[in-house]
Amino acid sequence: MIPFIDLAAQQARLKPRIDAAIQKVLAHGAYVMGPEVRLFEEQLAAFGRARFALSCANGTDALALPLLAWEIGAGDAVFCPSFTFAATPEVVPWTGATPVFVDILPDTCNLDPGHLEASIEAVKAQGRLRPAAVIAVDLFGQPADYPAIAKICRRHGLKLLADSAQGFGCTLGGEQPLSWADAAATSFFPAKPLGCYGDGGAVLTDDAALAERIDSLRVHGKATASDVNGRPLAHDPKYLNTRIGMNSRLDTLQAAILIEKLAIFGEEIEQRQRVARRYSEGLAGHVLQVPQVIEGGLSTWAQYVIEHRDRDGLAEHLKAGGVPTAVYYPVPMHRQAPYAGFPTGPGGLPVSEAKSATVLALPMHPYLAADVQDRIIEGVRGYNG
Ligand SMILES: *Cc1c(COP(=O)(O)O)cnc(C)c1O
Repeated sequence: MIPFIDLAAQQARLKPRIDAAIQKVLAHGAYVMGPEVRLFEEQLAAFGRARFALSCANGTDALALPLLAWEIGAGDAVFCPSFTFAATPEVVPWTGATPVFVDILPDTCNLDPGHLEASIEAVKAQGRLRPAAVIAVDLFGQPADYPAIAKICRRHGLKLLADSAQGFGCTLGGEQPLSWADAAATSFFPAKPLGCYGDGGAVLTDDAALAERIDSLRVHGKATASDVNGRPLAHDPKYLNTRIGMNSRLDTLQAAILIEKLAIFGEEIEQRQRVARRYSEGLAGHVLQVPQVIEGGLSTWAQYVIEHRDRDGLAEHLKAGGVPTAVYYPVPMHRQAPYAGFPTGPGGLPVSEAKSATVLALPMHPYLAADVQDRIIEGVRGYNG
């Protein structure tokens, strides 16, 4: 079987550096919030062109932390796509707020700004919930339509959070999602374009007050400099808890590994463009649709997702030929039992539902060799289902 994501190829390339980085952490022993965590945050902020990068335990917490910091809660509506990973809507009910599911565009599979506007208007007209925020997802690695979404958010006074778990490093007109969003969240789950060897995540923002609140929330609501405001303290500020927080930290070992991976990430994004281009050249006209990237957009190609009328038949055919595939996502979130009671925008989500029946992800990673890729392309082209 061809690997779906070949993490071993990258590891072989980085092995001496990663081994040395791990040994260094074992030697100094600062396993939590050690020096590598700060260094990685600085480098991540520089890569993401953000004033602040705050690492945390996983990408799901990275979505929850800004919502908590904005004090979003009961009575608030948070608009997000349904055709996404569970983590996107999951964090909304954590806060007591209500997710409102919005449909996607048929070409990019990202949030439909027209349906977003209609969904916000509908919630306002109903008067039961207060529109508070939008979570836009950079699905499969490509940027959402941030100029259009940010304009709608500004007009309605909503916060904009970019779920860049799959798309960290993507750009639109050369700008990263944070150029439009109030905060961007990413995940370092191993299979993500920038992954570690376990769980990890980060929030990026240019907002100093937000960064300070997230820094507090990720360590049990510890007092911040602004909370203390120069007052002399009788005890360690770590044990002065000024808000209800959580424990969400990136391990020092993971930060040390991520420093090495971030150093080659820009180059890997380039290699991913080459692999994606080759797929599209080989497959256009042979499937219902090859991926369509928004004009001016650069995808990190977390996934290369084609559409096919007989998706399941094609997947079986490829599997028989040693080619693994995956379906992201077979059931949109508004059709999942725990989420079925939450509202959708007007007219429901026909595009999200149609996509879930046709999408199929092919093996995708920066080290996919041309001959192996040719086998995959031939496999798809040779299917007459
Ligand atoms: C992976 C992912 C997350 C969550 O990341 P974890 O690190 O697994 O918690 C959130 N949103 C999207 C779109 C993802 O793909």
